[in-house]
Amino acid sequence: MIILVVNAGSSSLKYQLFDMDNEIVMAKGLCDRIGIGGSLIKHSTHDGRSVVKEIEMTTHKDAIAALIKVLTHEEWGVIKSLSEITAVGHRVVHGGEKFFSSVIIDDEVMKTLEECVELAPLHNPPNITGIKACQHILEGVPQVAVFDTAFHQTMPQKAYIYALPYEYYEKYKMRKYGFHGTSHKYVSERAAAMLGKPIEELKIVTCHLGNGSSIAAVDGGKVIDTSMGFTPLDGLAMGTRCGSIDPAVVTFLIQKEGLSAEEMDLIMNKKSGVLGISGVSSDFRDLDAAVEQGNQRAQLALDVFTYQVKKYIGSYACAMGGIDAVVFTAGIGENNAPLRKAMCEGLEFLGIAIDDEKNGIRGQEIDISKENAKVRVLVIPTNEELAIAKETKKLVM
Ligand code: ADP
Repeated sequence: MIILVVNAGSSSLKYQLFDMDNEIVMAKGLCDRIGIGGSLIKHSTHDGRSVVKEIEMTTHKDAIAALIKVLTHEEWGVIKSLSEITAVGHRVVHGGEKFFSSVIIDDEVMKTLEECVELAPLHNPPNITGIKACQHILEGVPQVAVFDTAFHQTMPQKAYIYALPYEYYEKYKMRKYGFHGTSHKYVSERAAAMLGKPIEELKIVTCHLGNGSSIAAVDGGKVIDTSMGFTPLDGLAMGTRCGSIDPAVVTFLIQKEGLSAEEMDLIMNKKSGVLGISGVSSDFRDLDAAVEQGNQRAQLALDVFTYQVKKYIGSYACAMGGIDAVVFTAGIGENNAPLRKAMCEGLEFLGIAIDDEKNGIRGQEIDISKENAKVRVLVIPTNEELAIAKETKKLVM
C-alpha cells in the first residue's frame, strides 16, 4: 500500500511517499516558496537520486501537480502513475474539540475544519488548501486528516479550562488544546514497545524539544496534561517563543511601548524564547557555540530552558502520581546530550539517573538510564510522517 503524506504550510508543502507494506520512505521532498516567486521543488528518493528544480508554483494545487509529476518522472520518479497511491494523509494543526482521532475527510469534516480556522488562523488555512488541492488532483483517492491536537483531547477539564470567565470557553472555545500530538503519541507508543509493557500500565512524560517544544503527561496511553495551550505559544520557552509568562506582562508592555496587539504577538512568537534571552540565535547549536566563546546570556538561555523542562517533568510526575519513563525527542531532545544530562540532573529523588556513556550514543532509539534506575529515560527519534502514514493506513484499510 502506497501512502502520500502531505504537510502544507502557507508557502511550502512537505511530502513523503511511503511504501506501507515495508514502512519505508520511497521518496520525499519540499515544494518551497509557493505563491511568493522563485518557487522550487527539492526531491529525493530512497535509492539516492535527488533533484532541485525551479518550477512555477503559484498555488498549492500547482505544488501537488509538481510533486505528482516528479513522483512519476522517468528519471526521479518512484511510481509509474498516480493510481498507485492508495490514500493521502494530511497533517492538520488544529482539530478543535471535534476531533479525538484521525478521520477520513468528507464534506462534513471539511466544514468542521473550516470552523476550526478561527482557532489556528495561520496554520489551518494552508492545511485546508493542501487538502483541496489533493482532492482536485487525486480525485477519488481517500484523504485522511491527522490532527496535532487530537491526542491531547483526552485531557480532563481541570487540565484544560483556563481560570477566565467561563463564557469565553463557551463563546470562543478558549481552552488548552496542546500540539505536537502526533509526535507525543508516536513516541509514547514506541516507549511502551521498547519497555515491553502495555501502554495502559505506563506513566510517561514525553518531551518534544525542537524549534517548538512541548511536554505531555501520558498516563495509560492517554494525555492528561500538556504544556502548550490555546496556541503553540504556551508552556516552555522555545527557539523564538516566550512560552508561559505572567499574562500581565502583555498589557504592561503594550502600554509602556505603545504596541499594537499584532506587534505584541510578533514579539512573543518571533523575538522571544532563547533568541530573546541570548540575543544570539534561536538555534541551540548556535547557543552551544556562543557558550563556548564565554557568552553568558547564551548560557542563561540554556539554563532557563533546562530548568523549565525539569519543572515540567516533576509536575507531571505529580499529576500522574508517579512516573515510569521520560522520553526525549525532536531536534534538541534527540541530539543534545549535554542538555539531556542537565535536564535529568537533580531528579535522582524521582528515580531518574542517566548513564553518561549511553547518553552519548546518537541516532537510534535507546534507553539511556542507569541499569538500576527506577525511571527509564528514553531517546526516541520522532517520525511524525510515518505516524501520519500509519494512521492513514489504519483508516483506509
Ligand atoms: P522543528 O520544530 O523545526 O521541527 P527540530 O525538531 O528540527 O525543529 O529542532 C531544531 C532544534 O534542534 C535546533 O535548536 C537545533 O539546534 C537542534 N538540533 C537539530 N539537529 C541537531 C543536531 N544534529 N545536533 C544538535 N542539535 C540539533
